[in-house]
Amino acid sequence: MSRTIEREELEGLSPIIEAAREKANQSTCMKDRRGAVVFRDGQILGVAFNGPVSPHECNPGICFAICGLYAMHAERAAIMDAIAKGHDLEQASVLHVKVGEGGQVQVSGELRCEDCTGYMMCFLRKGTTLKEFYIFQENGWTAHTIPEADKITRKNLDL
Ligand SMILES: [Zn+2]
Ligand SMILES: [Zn+2]
Repeated sequence: MSRTIEREELEGLSPIIEAAREKANQSTCMKDRRGAVVFRDGQILGVAFNGPVSPHECNPGICFAICGLYAMHAERAAIMDAIAKGHDLEQASVLHVKVGEGGQVQVSGELRCEDCTGYMMCFLRKGTTLKEFYIFQENGWTAHTIPEADKITRKNLDL
């Protein structure tokens, strides 16, 4: 199920949100700046921003047209960062942030990326239970279980 994060839980989440926000501000993507943190029990396991994988860079000339085809999304990159650092991901969660011009957290809108939710579903299929996916929506910070995120994403994409 999906749930809205409130009060003490939101307070506890704030260092994670801040880490994701700071990372998103390092993104050089001209289209969208996003950050993601993989965490468990308040500990950060992996962190990343969206964009083409180094040494490639976001090219403003073509970014708006095909950025989505050659950039790696922050969620996937943050999960890879956690794995590269040797963490097991059992019961880890993923938090996603979109930042605006001034670097502040923005509403991310509805779940529409099957690339990311499908990737997280892969872990479930292979026996690692990623716990929840957090995203800032109209009604505040919302956590979805991964199957729920997948279900909503597919519905939003008319799949
Ligand atoms: Zn880009
Ligand atoms: Zn994605």
